[in-house]
Amino acid sequence: MKMLELVLMKKVEEVEVKKEDKKENETEDLLAKLDVTAIEGIDTKIAAKLRQVGVKTIEDLMNINSFVAQAKVKLPLHKIMEFRKKAQLMLRLRFNEDIISYLAAKGYTIEQAIEEDPKVLKKITHQDMEKIMDFIEKLTQITIFLDAATCRNNSVNILRKSITVEEPTKPEIPEEEEREKIAKYLENTEIALLLERMLEGYIRELTPKWAITTKLGFGYPEAEEIISPSNEVTYNILAELYTVGILKRHFWDKIMRCPKCSFINLSLRFICVRCGSRNLIRDEMIEHYDCAHVDLERHFKSGDGLVCPKCNKDLKQLGLDYSRPGIMYECRDCGDLTGSPFQRLLCLNCGHIMKKEVPMLDDVWSFTLNEEKKHIILELLDPKHTIMNILMEKGFNFEVERLVEGKLKGKSGVLHFFDIYAEKGDDRLLIEFITDENLVVISSVYDLIAKAQDLEATIVVLLAIPAISDDAKQFADYHNISVLEGENLANILPNFKAKVDDILKQKFK
Ligand SMILES: [Zn+2]
Ligand SMILES: [Zn+2]
Ligand SMILES: [Zn+2]
Repeated sequence: MKMLELVLMKKVEEVEVKKEDKKENETEDLLAKLDVTAIEGIDTKIAAKLRQVGVKTIEDLMNINSFVAQAKVKLPLHKIMEFRKKAQLMLRLRFNEDIISYLAAKGYTIEQAIEEDPKVLKKITHQDMEKIMDFIEKLTQITIFLDAATCRNNSVNILRKSITVEEPTKPEIPEEEEREKIAKYLENTEIALLLERMLEGYIRELTPKWAITTKLGFGYPEAEEIISPSNEVTYNILAELYTVGILKRHFWDKIMRCPKCSFINLSLRFICVRCGSRNLIRDEMIEHYDCAHVDLERHFKSGDGLVCPKCNKDLKQLGLDYSRPGIMYECRDCGDLTGSPFQRLLCLNCGHIMKKEVPMLDDVWSFTLNEEKKHIILELLDPKHTIMNILMEKGFNFEVERLVEGKLKGKSGVLHFFDIYAEKGDDRLLIEFITDENLVVISSVYDLIAKAQDLEATIVVLLAIPAISDDAKQFADYHNISVLEGENLANILPNFKAKVDDILKQKFK
């Protein structure tokens, strides 16, 4: 009989496990697949706009580029970033599946679960207190990102999705795509300026400074000066630049946020275990060895010395005739004495009082440029500089003696403007960037040939932006002018190095 029972139980377990598996799959992406209107602040109007650019779910929202979305959706940039950040934070929360299952089975809503006494939750879910507290903390966090109605109406089922806490591992993307992505951000002049300052070393690291009168609680004054006076807007942009890999972040501090108002001004309070009063006084204990009397220090105080209130003897030497066993808290309201009063956090902004386990724990980061992306950013911000660097690597130098006020004197005696002129041994290299609205035409090539001849250039490279006409190309080829085309200088750069190698190979073969 016993044996049979066991076998039966095992079967039931197996079925249960299978059911669990299925349930987990079904609900795995629940949070990610939530409609964007679940996010606090996104109403149906905004949701309709987002839908036009293909953003329906929280996951979609996470995957858009804020700048592209801003241009299309016509919402203020900081709004889009705020929504994205909420989505991101929601997806990072990983909830304990067991707790969720038990609470969902009991029909709890998110709001009810937060309000419930942790002891009751512990009993229902058969978990230890630490897990329950962790769960409540995360639940409190998510209520801040979730729209109020979603919070009220949904059972905790909504949180079933298990989410990886690890940093999302980004798949290797080809450098071309990477450049395009970074270029999009650099189209924003404020971001370009900030990155330029970082590239040049004026700003080595963006370190946070406390700003406790603001909701965010900290800011990056050096970045705010350039990007936006609002520390939240600036921070969101920095966070996005980190997400796309332009910036690196480094742990700086951990802060607690009030779950009601988000401010970080939380202050510790001691509370009487018996009557709940905050009116406690702290005093040291003294134990008189002679009569074994233990009391607060102030009851021993007499003039400059200590006298035992019980036996009236003088206390002379610590360790010899008395000891100090510890600190006690005395309630001024009910007189209760305790060594460990309740500890509660008081939000100095909204007055909310909470247990120490309740506030959200947030990381505060400092930011630096991602060394691995530096070359791309430099190329995009200052392509000419990059071209010169490549040439220097190839042994060219830029100390041209015929330079007159930044112009170059030809053999005819005429001064010429030029984009890049460099020398290597007997070779003289002239590079011209020629931009045309449509195509670079043949007359521009004429002018270049004339200039090259007067400057006695032996290597001539034409960088045609955005492209060159067929006949102009033919003409350039005939005159041994190397041509590279591209929408802008930065686009030409990836091919430039190979071209220079090609030219040098031909020259010195
Ligand atoms: Zn005594
Ligand atoms: Zn009391
Ligand atoms: Zn508060």
